[in-house]
Amino acid sequence: MSLSHLTFPIRSDKLTMTASVREHLSHRVTEFQTIDIYETDVYGRVLMLDNHIQLTELDEHAYHESLVQIPLLSMKAPKAALVIGGGDGGVLRELAKHPTIEHVDMVEIDAGVVEESRQWLPGVSDGAFDDPRMHLHLEDAFPFVENATRKYDLIVADSTDTYEEEDGALSEMLFTDEFYKDCFNALAEGGILVTQADNLLFCPYSLENIEEMFGRVFPKTGSYQAIIPSFGGFSGYCWASKGAEVSSEYPEEKAAKMNFRYLNQATWNFAFTKLAF
Ligand code: SAM
Repeated sequence: MSLSHLTFPIRSDKLTMTASVREHLSHRVTEFQTIDIYETDVYGRVLMLDNHIQLTELDEHAYHESLVQIPLLSMKAPKAALVIGGGDGGVLRELAKHPTIEHVDMVEIDAGVVEESRQWLPGVSDGAFDDPRMHLHLEDAFPFVENATRKYDLIVADSTDTYEEEDGALSEMLFTDEFYKDCFNALAEGGILVTQADNLLFCPYSLENIEEMFGRVFPKTGSYQAIIPSFGGFSGYCWASKGAEVSSEYPEEKAAKMNFRYLNQATWNFAFTKLAF
């Protein structure tokens, strides 16, 4: 029986989505944001931060497999990874699938997101927080990367978005040339930086801005997409490197060993298909 309805922005007040809610499982206000977790009829459990959707049980695997595995499988033997944000643990889960990964630093500013996700969405991290290779730093990612000493083969920026018509987002500084220059310095020569770039269909400005900034800092950049119904249909991703390429060719042999739920030949090809809307 549906109790109420949850309405959240896909693009500020220009486009919103409403989902029927069975139960409001958790509400918590931290020093950084408001965390809500709902049980919904259509999306399963949903994580909201300041009423912006972060993930749903229905399609988080598509988002996280695309964000992590497409760049990761383009590399020979990545050893060290850095995760910016990602407090729900979905990126950690995807990284943990790789035997070559030896060390992961995850920099998440809000311990509350980790705690709530572990309690109410344990399937998202699927035990990855307890993997000895994972090192959680509960602090602001901006100074962490600025002072990074280790070189990373993969840097995954999975922070909250900055929102049109809303200033002072928690992650504002993570979408700047300055931050990307620090990521450049922390990236290994053959490494790849990848970031989520919001909904490329309804919020094209996000992908465009990031591609422009990446182009000012890195010699190589590119983008791809995935089908994420809860984000309004699609999520865009941007990557950048000092020379390494994200392959648009589906790595059949490597992928066969990973039993992905979303990624396959068709969705990998789709990721690099130019959409005309
Ligand atoms: N998949 C989501 C998306 O596409 O928007 C992002 C999920 S993850 C929950 C986003 C995380 O970024 C949040 O837990 C938030 O606390 C974190 N975050 C935001 N700004 C940050 C900062 N400056 N340093 C570290 N973590 C930050």
